[in-house]
Amino acid sequence: GSLPGEETVRALVTEAHADSLGVHEGLVATYIPQLAEADPDACAVSVVSVAGRSVEVGDIGERFSIQSVSKPFVLALACDALGADRTRDRLGANATGMPFNSVMAVELNEQRTMNPMVNAGAIAATSLLVEVGGDGDAAWRLVQAGLSRFAGRDLAVDDEVYACESRTNLRNHGIAHLLHSYGSVHGDPDVATDVYTRQCSLSVDTHDLAVMAATLADGGVNPITRERVVRESTCAKVLAVMATAGLYEHSGDWLWDIGLPGKSGVSGAIVTVSPGKGGLATWSPRLDEAGNSVRGQMITRRLSIELGLNVFASR
Ligand code: GLN
Repeated sequence: GSLPGEETVRALVTEAHADSLGVHEGLVATYIPQLAEADPDACAVSVVSVAGRSVEVGDIGERFSIQSVSKPFVLALACDALGADRTRDRLGANATGMPFNSVMAVELNEQRTMNPMVNAGAIAATSLLVEVGGDGDAAWRLVQAGLSRFAGRDLAVDDEVYACESRTNLRNHGIAHLLHSYGSVHGDPDVATDVYTRQCSLSVDTHDLAVMAATLADGGVNPITRERVVRESTCAKVLAVMATAGLYEHSGDWLWDIGLPGKSGVSGAIVTVSPGKGGLATWSPRLDEAGNSVRGQMITRRLSIELGLNVFASR
């Protein structure tokens, strides 16, 4: 199947967005000082189909840092470079059931990282690109060029977010050093953390994220530029990992309610992938206690039902 017609999608997205605007629950993240400056009541929704059609509603031109929504796309680059199975052996693919910044995600598994959708596994994933590229600068070029191909435009770092997170990310440096003690991070753990921090600081808008999600939905071909970004076989693996831990300790509830692979980030974005149909992105900075956008979850839950996207539904 495919998405319903554009006018139907537009009407449903417009209504889901409008109905979410009365919800003011949740708090904007403040542990990265720059994020605290976001408008708590901003809200945008974008749907991009595998045919390259877009529907956009709300604060669509606003930019924010990509944060953890970068994780599945960097994983995709690692899978493409090293092969999916080798990548899984290095990074793990099991649900963590734990918060994104958990140190236990390093301690509780013999592979020493459990899943690349939480910080520990994501820093290890970024370090695989340090291994592939040869050093931190080369890894950064791979990340920036790769995520830009997913988005279909040149993405740049938000320097203020990068500077501010670089001053406050002691916990991520700690996680990287712990990984290093198990031999799970390639090279200097501080270099891996720095590339990871830059990757999280890339500035995007909601449409960019929907295009990136639609590229995963389209088997690795960007539906706007028609460029192949990653292999088709990579996409199914990345979507499987998103389903296990994309919304951290709420991933089971998310899969129950929405039935699609998704990935959230602390700037308030969520990407959702409907394989073979399209990508959905929401941005609204108020977060629940797991760090997932409150309105983003509401809007996505409603659209998954109304657009008939749940992958576990028989029709
Ligand atoms: N850069 C953030 C961090 O590492 C990303 C976390 C997130 O989006 N949940 O803490």
